[in-house]
Parts: sequence; structure tokens; C-alpha cells
Amino acid sequence: MPSHGAPTAKNASILIVGGGVFGLSSALQLSKNGYTNITVIDREAVPSPYSAGNDLNKIVRAEYEDPFYAKLALNAIKQWQTPFWAPYYKPTGYLVAISPDAPQKARDSLQKSLASIKNDPAFKHGSFTAIGSAKDAKGCAPMLNGNMEGWSGYFNRHAGYARAAKALEHAAKTCNEMGVKFVTGDNGYAVELQFRDELQGRRICTGVKTTNGTIYQAAQTILCLGAHIGTLLPEISYQVMAKAWSVAHIQLSAEEVEEMKDCPVVNCRDLGFFFEPDEDTGLLKLSANGAGYTNYVTSPGFQEQISIPTPSVKGIPKEDEELIKRLISNTMPKFSGRQLVNKFICWCGDTAESDFIIDFLPGVEGLMVAGGDSGHAFKMLPVVGEWVANVIMEGEQSITRWKWKDGKASSDDISWRVGTVRDIKEAMSLNTRSQI
Ligand SMILES: Cc1cc2nc3c(=O)[nH]c(=O)nc-3n(C[C@H](O)[C@H](O)[C@H](O)COP(=O)(O)OP(=O)(O)OC[C@H]3O[C@@H](n4cnc5c(N)ncnc54)[C@H](O)[C@@H]3O)c2cc1C
Repeated sequence: MPSHGAPTAKNASILIVGGGVFGLSSALQLSKNGYTNITVIDREAVPSPYSAGNDLNKIVRAEYEDPFYAKLALNAIKQWQTPFWAPYYKPTGYLVAISPDAPQKARDSLQKSLASIKNDPAFKHGSFTAIGSAKDAKGCAPMLNGNMEGWSGYFNRHAGYARAAKALEHAAKTCNEMGVKFVTGDNGYAVELQFRDELQGRRICTGVKTTNGTIYQAAQTILCLGAHIGTLLPEISYQVMAKAWSVAHIQLSAEEVEEMKDCPVVNCRDLGFFFEPDEDTGLLKLSANGAGYTNYVTSPGFQEQISIPTPSVKGIPKEDEELIKRLISNTMPKFSGRQLVNKFICWCGDTAESDFIIDFLPGVEGLMVAGGDSGHAFKMLPVVGEWVANVIMEGEQSITRWKWKDGKASSDDISWRVGTVRDIKEAMSLNTRSQI
């Protein structure tokens, strides 16, 4: 039974619970590294509607406030350009700005993020253009006809977006071809961890039970449940808090798709971000920026409430709808009257310092977590698996910031996010009130 300090044998049974970004990337890399007995279980067919990564597109950029992640993201971008991932990567560039109303925090964050990459040799001469006016912005994105009044920031040419759901499908298909077993639906919906108590207080995780009572046993269980991890492992909720952000689409005609083709990813850090329209569906995706919404509930055996995703929210908070509409009128007023469709909230697992957690559980053998995605992990799809595989192969996590942390850490004030964290129930109740 593998534990800290004991590398997992290549023929040991490995159970990956959750086939999203962390789960699929881990299965892929472990397979490549010669592990032969891997099973991925998920509550839905992969890519699952419960995966934060199962979306039209996700930003792929290297700028971070923290140079540690900037380096990792640069490596990920290199991978996105290899033949395996390149069909799912579109290097449109990334226009980052703040509006005149942006709080100081957003200004500081933009500067710190730019500083993390601007002198890196991976960025060729001419990779960046300063944006100080609508004219500058239109110079980099001529398809935008809004006035973007007072926007300032920069355009980064060494960035773009991933065709997210398609990249996940490709990863899952490849895993399948490499012999990874998949179990999805009720058979794969984990509801309880299984343990065996040993002498001298040693606890050993033996696998999970699923909603229909099936028990999956494994020498090593890896929880890759994203925002949902607290539902299976409530004690992690002191480190990983489920938070949601709003997404909506507008439908474009074939001519409009053509007009908006090659539009860079545009991210106004105090409003929201959008992508070029999806070539298959003509949908243009927009998302509101903010501090995120929690959903606090009581969990048996826990004194304090924990935040976990709720499936009961339909649509998005009115305040986010307003932000998205302002983003459209600032950048693409020609679409201002357009109905927002496919509105939904998307859940992530936030940590205090936006650090991932990739570690064994202290005091338990055979159980590892790979999560705490903090809303920035999709771009890492090509490389996350290497980090997980390293821990499995070495038998311990050597990167301090990715270790399991005891104690409680608040993720209410994240330096790179604007706004205030609020409970989703409260935010949605304002929608109803505004209709009265
Ligand atoms: C609005 C929004 C925009 C984002 N934009 C970006 C971006 O532009 N760039 C970027 O890099 N990142 C972005 N992210 C973050 C990125 O999507 C996440 O960091 C990433 O998807 C997290 O991966 P994960 O594997 O931890 O979780 P997920 O991808 O959410 O996967 C979790 C999996 O667990 C499964 N599951 C849940 N419960 C159970 C259970 N009980 N039993 C079995 N399976 C279960 C789910 O079905 C799912 O497949 C964004 C996130 C949001 C919400």
C-alpha cells in the first residue's frame, strides 16, 4: 500500500476519482509513465457537465502575479504548441486591460502580472503592445468597434485560448486507447471513501463507494474532484472553498462569426472577458470577473459550514449579467441588444494563495488529492499530469506550496480578483427581488 515516502509500483491499481482537467491529465501522464492499471471514474460521461473545464474555450496565458506559475504556464504553452495539443490551441493573443473604474487592486495585479513575463526570453521582441486608448486596442483587435473609453493595459501576442471541451475529449480518447478504464454515470458517482484501520492507528484508504453501492478498490486513490472535492472529503474545505463565476453566450450569424474571427481574448479585469466566436456553433462566450460566489452548507460532523457547489442555481446573478452587458457595450456595441443565452455558473476549488494541492493525505495511506485549482488550471492541462505523476513516483510532494496544509485558510481576499465574495443564494435572491 503506497504512502508518503513509498513510490507506487507500476502495476499497482490506481483509481482516479473525477475525469476533469486534473484527472484526465494525470491518467494520461501516468499511462505514459508505464502505469498499467488505471481506472477513472466520473459521475457523468467525460467531459462531464460538472467539470469546470467542459466549456467552449479557456484562456491560455503565462502572466501571473506569481512568477512560479508564470514559468509553469510558459511550459504549458510550449506543450499546447506540440502536435498532440496544437489542434486545440488558438494563439489569438490576449488583450488585458482595466477600465477607468477599476480598483487599485486590479491595477496593481495587472502590473505585477505583466512584470512576471515581460523580460522572459520566451517572449520575442514585439510580443507586447501597450494599450492606452481605444485606438491602441483597435490596432490589436480591429474587429472591436467599441470606444473602450479610458481602458489601459497591454496586448500579449504569445497567448490565446484552448478549445476546452474538445481538448478534454482528446485527452480522454487517448487515455482510452492507452488502456485506461473509464466508468461513468451512477457507477462512477463516488459518494464515500473506503478505509481500513490498521494497528498503531494507521488508516488505509482502500477506494470509494459509488451511488449505486459499487465499491472500487485500489492501492492508490487520487481525488480529482475540482470544486466538488468537499463533498467526498469535507475536511479539505478548510483549504479548498467552492466558488462560482458566471458565463453566458451570445449567438452570432455566420457573417458575424467571420467579422469577429481571430479576435484576441479580451480581458477587462474589472468587467469580464470574452473569446472569438466558436467556429462550429457561432457562440461567443463571455464571463464576468469578480471575487466569486460561495454556497455555504452544513456538513455532518463539521461545526462550521463549508462551501460546496449547488446544482440548484439556474442562470446567473443579475449583477453579473449587467457586467457582461457593459463589457459588450464597451467593446462590441453592435451586439449590445443581443440576448444572453446559455447562462450558467461554473464552480472552481479556491485556495488562500491560489496554490494547487497535490499531495497525500497526512496520516492516511493510499489517498492523494490533486486539486485546489483556484480557477486557473485549465491552461495547465498538458502539464498537470506530470506534477501528479512525480508525486506518485517519488512517494512524496517536494514542492512546499502544493503540500496538504493543516488548519484553516481563508480565500475571501484573492489579490488578483476584484470585488467581494458573496453567497450565491443571496446573489440569486436579488434576481427574484428585481423582478417583483
Ligand atoms: C467561469 C470559469 C472560467 C475559467 N476560465 C479559465 C481560463 O480561462 N483558463 C484557465 O486556465 N482556467 C480557467 N478556469 C479554471 C478551470 O476550468 C479549472 O481550474 C479546472 O477545470 C479545474 O480542474 P479540476 O480537474 O480540478 O476540476 P474539474 O475540471 O471541475 O473536474 C472535476 C471532475 O470531477 C467530477 N466529479 C465531481 N463530483 C464527483 C463525484 N462525486 N464522483 C465522481 N466524479 C465527480 C466532475 O464530473 C468533473 O469531471 C475557469 C473556471 C471557471 C469556473
